[in-house]
Amino acid sequence: MVGIEEVASRNQFRLYPTTRLGQFKAHCPTCHDTNRQFHLYVSSTKDTFFCHKCGAKGGVVAFHAWLKGIPFQFAKDELYPVGKRTFLRHPAEQLTYEQRAEIGFTTRLPSPIAPKAYTQKEWSRYRRRTLNWIWREWRAYEKFRKEQDERLYRLVCEGMAIEATSQQTSMQKDIATMNTSTVIAANGDLHANHRRTLSGAQSALEQDCELIPQT
Ligand SMILES: [Zn+2]
Repeated sequence: MVGIEEVASRNQFRLYPTTRLGQFKAHCPTCHDTNRQFHLYVSSTKDTFFCHKCGAKGGVVAFHAWLKGIPFQFAKDELYPVGKRTFLRHPAEQLTYEQRAEIGFTTRLPSPIAPKAYTQKEWSRYRRRTLNWIWREWRAYEKFRKEQDERLYRLVCEGMAIEATSQQTSMQKDIATMNTSTVIAANGDLHANHRRTLSGAQSALEQDCELIPQT
């Protein structure tokens, strides 16, 4: 945002301080004020100007247009070039309502424009403090949540490790018992086969021997 004082200095327009803070007087360019005539008043707290003689008034853009003698839209484009019009928002303003509610802030964010009871400066200070507070709270909350997630993740990992170990142990046990029984069974089969083959061969041999003529 460009302030009204900034606009005055860009246009080499002189502002004279008054006894009131943020309140300036100036020679009105249209009323051709001279010397001690100051019909124009400029407020840097409200970013407005007003001429008590010709009634010219407005905000920052109107002031720039008026001083430079250019149309309002041109003045606006000069002060806020297209593409550079990035309104710098406070990070707290970018939180959603739900996110703010998570940290217990359910009321509306203070508006940038001061309510009647406050000066713009007081209000801006209060607003900034509130936004800073919300942002601090949110960051602390995020940190806490992240730590909690990590703790939970660690617990889950440990739990999974324990489960995996117990599963492995029971699997090893299964393999061990499986081996023994399989080996015993296989051995038994082998012995039986062996015995069958041996006895078969023996009886065949005996039969052959009977066929051999005795001398
Ligand atoms: Zn005037």
